[in-house]
Amino acid sequence: MTEKIDIKSLTMEELEQELVKLGEKKFRAKQVYQWLHEKLAEDFDQMTSLPLGLRSSLGEHCFLTSLKPVQVQVSGIDGTRKYLFGLADGHVIESVWMQYRHGNSVCISTQVGCRMGCRFCASTLDGLVRNLTVSEMLDQVYRIQALTGQRVSHVVLMGSGEPLDNYDHVVKFLHLLTGSGGLNISQRNITLSTCGIVPGMRRLAQEKLQITLALSLHASRDQVRRELMPVARRFGLSEVLDACREYFAVTGRRVTFEYSLVAGVNDSPGEARALAGLLAGLHGHVNLIPVNPVREREFVQSSPAAVRAFQKILEEQGIPATVRREMGRDIQGACGQLRRSYLEQGMGENGMS
Ligand code: SAH
Repeated sequence: MTEKIDIKSLTMEELEQELVKLGEKKFRAKQVYQWLHEKLAEDFDQMTSLPLGLRSSLGEHCFLTSLKPVQVQVSGIDGTRKYLFGLADGHVIESVWMQYRHGNSVCISTQVGCRMGCRFCASTLDGLVRNLTVSEMLDQVYRIQALTGQRVSHVVLMGSGEPLDNYDHVVKFLHLLTGSGGLNISQRNITLSTCGIVPGMRRLAQEKLQITLALSLHASRDQVRRELMPVARRFGLSEVLDACREYFAVTGRRVTFEYSLVAGVNDSPGEARALAGLLAGLHGHVNLIPVNPVREREFVQSSPAAVRAFQKILEEQGIPATVRREMGRDIQGACGQLRRSYLEQGMGENGMS
C-alpha cells in the first residue's frame, strides 16, 4: 500500500494534482482547501459540502493532521494560554496563545525538542526528536483559533525548536499560513526567531517574505556568546550581523535582536555599551528578556534595576530597546518547560492515551 498523503501540508496546486490523480475534478481542490485552511475541519466527515464518495476517497488516500490538546493552562493574570498538543505519533509539543491590544498572537513550536543546545533553554535539554511537518505547524494556529473562538492575527516562531533547522517545512508553512484561501494572516504579523544559522538567514532573505526576522543575540562578545550558545562556535558575531544587514537590505524589514539578560553573565553596563556599538547602523530593535530560570540550569535573572540600566544605555546610544512583558508568569514559564514537566510526570510521550 502506498503511504497516505498529508493533505493539510499541500499547496492549492499540489492538492489539485492529487485530486486529479484520484479521478476528481480540479475545481474540488478549492472546496477541500477551504475546509482545511479556512473552516479548520478536523476530519473528512465534517466536509459536508463534498459528495460522500469524495469524502471516503480522501479518507482512503490521505490523512488529516489534527492536534489534540493534552493539557491547557490558563494564566489568571493575563489570560495567556499554554497548550500541550499531542501528535499522531504520540509526541507532544507546546504552543502559547497571548492576547495583546493589537490582536491575538500564537507562539508555535517548529520541532519536537531542539539540537541547538542553548545553555539557558529547556527545549534543548533532551536534544532533537524530529522536525514538525507543515501541517503540524499550521494546526497549532488552527486548533488554537478554533478552541478560543477568536481570530489569530499574529504568529511567532519562538516555541521549541530552531526554525531554520527545519527550513523547507517552515518556508512552506509560511506560504500556506499567509497565502490566499487560508486564515489570511499578514506576513508583517509574523516573526521568525533564529539562534543565528547564517546560511539559513541568507536563504530566507532571498525568499523575499515580509516577515520579521528576530535574532537571538544574548551577548555582545563572541566569547560570552559561545558560552551561552554552542551555535556561536560555528558562526561568529560579525558573520551573523552581516546576515542581518543583508536581510534588511533585501527585504526592507527591520531585524529584532533578542537579548536574554542573565545576572553576572551578560548584563553589565560595559556589555550594554558594547552591544550598542555592535548594532550601530543596523536599523534594528532590541528586545530585552530577563532570563526565565530553568530548573536544570543555574542561571539567575538580572535584577529589574540592571535591566532598566541596560535598556537606558542602549537608548542613549540611539538603539531602540524594549523590555519584553512577561506573559503567563503564573503558568510554566520558559519554552519547553511544560513538555518537560509533562514527560517527568511519567506520562511518556508514547504512553499517551
Ligand atoms: N530557536 C529559536 C527560537 C526559539 S526560542 C531561537 O533560538 O531564536 C525563542 C527565544 O527565547 C530565543 O531568543 C531564546 O534564546 C529565548 N529563550 C529560550 N529559553 C529562555 C529562557 N529560559 N529565558 C529567556 N529566554 C529564553
